[in-house]
Amino acid sequence: MSSPSKVIAAVVCDFERAAIGTRSRLNDCIAGKRVIEHVVGRLSQVVGVREIVLLVPPEQLDRAQGLQSLGLNVPMRPLPLTPRPAGLDARVRSSRQWNLHAWRGGAGQTTCFDEEYHPAALAQAVRETAADHLLIVHSHSILLDVSIASALIAHHFQKNHEMRVTYTPCAPGLSGMVLQSGIVQEMGEKNVVPGQLLGYDPAAPTFDTLIRDACMQVDPALSKIPNRFCVDTERSWRMVVQLMEEEKGTRGQGDKVTRRQGEVKEADFTLSPCHLVTLSPAALALAAARSVAPGVTDLSRVYPFPRELEIELTPRRLTAPPGAAPASVDLRSTAELDMGRPRATAKSELDPQHWITWLAGQQFPDDLLLTFAGHGDPLLYPHLLEVLRAARKAKGGGPLAICVQTDLVTDDLRPLLAAIDENLFDVLSITAYGYTAATYAKVARVDLHGQFARNLSQLAPIISGRGGVPLVVPRILKVRETIPELEVFFDAWIRQAGWAVIDYPTDLAGAVPFAGVVDMAPPKRKACRRIWERLLILSNGVALPCDQDIDAKLPLGNIISHTFTDFWQDLHTLRIQHAAGQWQSVDPCKSCREWHRA
Ligand code: SF4
Repeated sequence: MSSPSKVIAAVVCDFERAAIGTRSRLNDCIAGKRVIEHVVGRLSQVVGVREIVLLVPPEQLDRAQGLQSLGLNVPMRPLPLTPRPAGLDARVRSSRQWNLHAWRGGAGQTTCFDEEYHPAALAQAVRETAADHLLIVHSHSILLDVSIASALIAHHFQKNHEMRVTYTPCAPGLSGMVLQSGIVQEMGEKNVVPGQLLGYDPAAPTFDTLIRDACMQVDPALSKIPNRFCVDTERSWRMVVQLMEEEKGTRGQGDKVTRRQGEVKEADFTLSPCHLVTLSPAALALAAARSVAPGVTDLSRVYPFPRELEIELTPRRLTAPPGAAPASVDLRSTAELDMGRPRATAKSELDPQHWITWLAGQQFPDDLLLTFAGHGDPLLYPHLLEVLRAARKAKGGGPLAICVQTDLVTDDLRPLLAAIDENLFDVLSITAYGYTAATYAKVARVDLHGQFARNLSQLAPIISGRGGVPLVVPRILKVRETIPELEVFFDAWIRQAGWAVIDYPTDLAGAVPFAGVVDMAPPKRKACRRIWERLLILSNGVALPCDQDIDAKLPLGNIISHTFTDFWQDLHTLRIQHAAGQWQSVDPCKSCREWHRA
């Protein structure tokens, strides 16, 4: 395709730190070449791209100079990167950290296109190159699909008559977004990122762009893969290396990968200029889909670490909504930790030193998401601040991001405010049990709406004064009583916080009555999705596969004698049972409704 309009491709290259907060791997080698060389090599093959611009932090510009001698078939120039405002940068990073494996859907309505979108710098790049259109791709998108990116540009010119941006809902790292120069300039002036153009706005409700011309549809196999093809995490790196090695092996046997009719224009694409490795998008989708919940189809594919870890610091809470753990927790201390016994008889809160020592000794993966929640409210644990400090300082940089989940009804916000001041966590998840005081009291079974409202008003100016960091994620429980208030709650919080979540009550595998409006479990039971993704550690230090195991029937050891990796490996027995379809012989799995939720 040739076009009289000039399309440039832009890549934001930070050689020190990736946009999501992990270390940059742009200079790491894979299949004999540096990551950034793969990416610009692929970009240079995208039909319609006339020039490549690398936006590089000024102090790193020398590291990009060598790339100009790669012999690409389009010109390439490095330009100094004008970073976006720090508050915007922090909000986008925090939001995307919790949704690395999907192109959109995280807190704040951000998308994968926002991760490296620096509005002023991109506007400047468009001006300096006299470009009419801009293609943005992720700097670590080593598997950028040349065919899809070429088709995206063609779609932008020929089929998108409604918006000035065109995208495709591929998994992060497989494609990019194309924008007309005019909107790039406007976004530059107003510091707007793509998610703000595509998100839901209660003031101007309209059709989702997903069903408009702005979205180029692709094979559902590519749009529904919950995986990340930007190699900026250890997990993504391992997956891509494995895909490439497997594909090489397949080619070596002379096998041909089949693809469905009309998936993409050109199915094969090159990973290296010497044609060492080729993959078709169909093969990629298939292989990557197997890597989503690896053990379900292939037990050899279990990742060596979970994506999420939840720690319950206390089982205490001041509300008693539907789905909350029974209030039969015994807080009397026992002389010794009584691991693995039912919660009602075990010591229910550990001294902070246990948590501090354990956190200091763990080597977490670089994409680990740590949530302080469980069945209790972490704000009621008297040593929250010390434990948060320890979590932030854990080995290897600690977890990628930390969330504190609370009902926000404590009468002493000082520890939380101190933690905010010290930047000890990234997301504050707050559950409301109703939009009005009357509904709140009915659902929470306690009249604490006044305290909740007072705490919110104390918190709001502090967070707003920090540019919206930590991110606030308001939640409401969807039960019969809250149904009339869901819409007003959602719209009000979208305006104030940019996001809101509607939760559902669980029945804790039959331990408490089911209070949901409808049972959302699919009709056909399958292996549990959680046991390939997450772990929970109770307030007595016992690790469990999930929060549904209220009586600790499936203990995985405790933090006094076990590491994070031990817990994960011990969980493998349960994975094997689920992979073999034997969940009916496991208590509480046999009565569980939550197996389908990741
Ligand atoms: S099936 Fe239910 S009880 Fe069993 S591990 Fe999964 S979420 Fe937990």
